[in-house]
Amino acid sequence: MSNGIRVTIWNEGVHEKKHETVRKVYPKGLGAPIAEYLQKQPGIASVHISELDHEQQGLTDDILANTDVMTWWGHMAHDQVTDKNVERVHQRVLEGMGLIVLHSGHYSKIFKRLMGTGCFLKWREIGEKERLWVVDPAHPIAEGLPEYFELEHTEMYGEHFDIPQPDQLVFISWFAGGEVFRSGCCWHRGQGKVFYFRPGHETFPIYYNENVLHVIYNAVKWATPSGVKTIVRGNTKPLEDVKTQP
Ligand code: ZN
Repeated sequence: MSNGIRVTIWNEGVHEKKHETVRKVYPKGLGAPIAEYLQKQPGIASVHISELDHEQQGLTDDILANTDVMTWWGHMAHDQVTDKNVERVHQRVLEGMGLIVLHSGHYSKIFKRLMGTGCFLKWREIGEKERLWVVDPAHPIAEGLPEYFELEHTEMYGEHFDIPQPDQLVFISWFAGGEVFRSGCCWHRGQGKVFYFRPGHETFPIYYNENVLHVIYNAVKWATPSGVKTIVRGNTKPLEDVKTQP
C-alpha cells in the first residue's frame, strides 16, 4: 500500500452497449467518469476498468490479486456473473479487499452474498430530487462534504432496504416523493470493508457530480486494506506459562 491504492472499477457495461440514451450520458461507459476522477486523486496508484465481457468477466486472478479496492456497478446482467467469480470476489473481500457497491449493485450476487439478506428495496424512476444528509459527520467517508448535498434528478430508492444493520451509517437520503433511504452504509466482512453507496443510474449523469465522486474517493480510502499483518487461527499454544488442571 505504500505505493498507493490500486483500484478496479467493475462495470457491467451492458446498458451502454444496448441503449443510445445511456451512451449519450456515458459515452465511455458508467465506469469511465469514476476512473477519470480517481486517477487524479492523491494516494491512488492505479485505476483499472473491468467489464462483464472482458476475459473471465474482468475478474482474473491477476486483477483480483492486484486490487486493493473494487467498485461494483451492475444492473441488468447480475445473473450473468458466474457463481465461481462471485465466490472469488467474496474470498478476496474476506482477505481484506475493499468493496464499494454502487446503486443497482444492491441486487448483485456479490452484495447479496456478503449481506446474507434479500437486499431488495422500493424504487421509482421519475427523475425526482434526492437530498443526501450526512448522519455521521466525523466518519472518514464524509470528510470534506457539506452537511447535505442534492441531486436534482434521480431514481428513487426507498425503505425498507432489506440489509443487515450497517456497522456504520454515513448517509440518509430524502426524496421529493417522500421516501427516505439508508444511502451510505458500512460493514466489515472478514478482513474486508464494504460500503454501499446509493447514487448512480444509467440515464442520469450522477457519476459526474463532484460530491458523488468525492464520496467514492473517500470510500476508496476508507475501504483500503488496513490492520494487522497476520492473524493466527486454529488450535494454538498458550503465550504464557499456564497452570493446567491436573
Ligand atoms: Zn437505477
